[in-house]
Amino acid sequence: MIEVRNPYNGEVVGTVPRSGAADVDAACRTAEAALRRDDFPQHARAEVLERAADLLADRIESFARTITLESGKPIRTAKAEAQRAVDTLTFSAAEARTLAGHMVPMEASAAGAGRIGFVLRVPVGVVAAITPFNFPLNLVAHKLGPAIAAGCPVVLKPATATPLSAFALVELLEEAGLPEDWITIVAGRGDEVGDALVTHPVPALVSFTGSPAVGWRIRSLAPHKKVSLELGSNSPLIVEPDADFTTIAAKVKVAGFSHAGQSCISTQRIFVHRNAKPEFERVLSEAVESLVVGDPMEEATDVGPLISEAEAKRVLDWVEEAVGQGARLLAGGRMEDGLLLPTVVADAPLDVDLCAREVFGPVVVVLGYDSFDQALELANRSDFGLHAGVFTNDLDKALLAARTLEFGGVLINEVPTYRADQQPYGGVKQSGNTREGPHYAVREMTDLRFVMF
Ligand code: NAP
Repeated sequence: MIEVRNPYNGEVVGTVPRSGAADVDAACRTAEAALRRDDFPQHARAEVLERAADLLADRIESFARTITLESGKPIRTAKAEAQRAVDTLTFSAAEARTLAGHMVPMEASAAGAGRIGFVLRVPVGVVAAITPFNFPLNLVAHKLGPAIAAGCPVVLKPATATPLSAFALVELLEEAGLPEDWITIVAGRGDEVGDALVTHPVPALVSFTGSPAVGWRIRSLAPHKKVSLELGSNSPLIVEPDADFTTIAAKVKVAGFSHAGQSCISTQRIFVHRNAKPEFERVLSEAVESLVVGDPMEEATDVGPLISEAEAKRVLDWVEEAVGQGARLLAGGRMEDGLLLPTVVADAPLDVDLCAREVFGPVVVVLGYDSFDQALELANRSDFGLHAGVFTNDLDKALLAARTLEFGGVLINEVPTYRADQQPYGGVKQSGNTREGPHYAVREMTDLRFVMF
């Protein structure tokens, strides 16, 4: 068995069965047989997803509690995640109701005259889904919902640190009518179970959300499969002097620090026009120092623990390295009662880890720029490209940003940490190679089959 521990106090909060390579093989064979049976039609899949969304909506509190216990995510944020998972299932149900192919205008060419052609969308096959620890419910829903809509059985490998929400979601889907062999969970270490799953001949698609290092390695391990990667970033936010700093600081309090910064689109690099930077630093530091740090189960808590002590130490090392190289510490930068305090750093060199890599901790870095063009160039100077945010009241600058920023999403007058579950979500460069969101994921999970009469 795997013991799941509360990152806040180390208490065991649950156990799940540990799988090995033989279980992965059995799970893949089960999924393959479910696919071949072909007895779970589109309307039935839609009904399951609709019922599951209703059941989950009634159980937000209990799912949120599980999320908090296993991940250390503050309970208010966990409730928001559970609510979002209802949306994800609802949008997946809508896809199941509407998924269809299209006609091909055969008569449009002389060679096609007298023929009728159309395209069916058929399930890509068995999906291997691998998910990270930081959204243990909603990111699992983003794999399972679209796969059910598309007609693909799933073998799911959740993060070893946070498998409880995934087990609870699959139970809920079965209660809603999902055939029991449609989804199998294999919990176990990534380098054992994960590798066995990725290289197994049955899955046609590997849908992975996690770190760039693991994701791109999986891509190379499975050259003949479709591999969808949703990876990390060091998301930039550009702040023009005409923006309202109090509003932005209130947003960054959440965007840089909710779940202690452990979000793939956590706001990390904040570029502020040099004329306005001293004032922005003051407003932001004050806001960040007002965050409540502590027990994630308390309603008042804004920031809880990182997933492990080793991660907290890594983040602190990165802060200390930046300060050692001339950065200024404006808030936090130390541990208190075992928790890393929300940290604001200014003027770190661009090549230190704190700027150049994904920090995945409760830290934002404030950096200066002299012109809007320079801000765009600095934001683009990254190996990653998930979301970028820009605060400006100048429409021309907003449109220039939308055209120039090399990211999967450009958010005007919003932090890069915002995500709607129905949008096309994903990145460029090392941040990934796909788009999630039920409408888009269903298209990844189906193949086009051309039919001609
Ligand atoms: P991770 O270490 O890459 O783990 C993600 C998943 O991959 C876990 O289930 C992990 O299993 C598994 N895994 C590890 N090694 C593997 C291998 N060799 N083969 C197959 N699977 C393997 O990431 P994490 O620390 O859980 O999550 C944080 C990362 O996810 C961050 O980089 C974050 O930006 C990214 N993320 C991206 C998005 C997005 O949508 N773009 C969303 C959320 C998070 P174990 O748990 O057993 O190690």
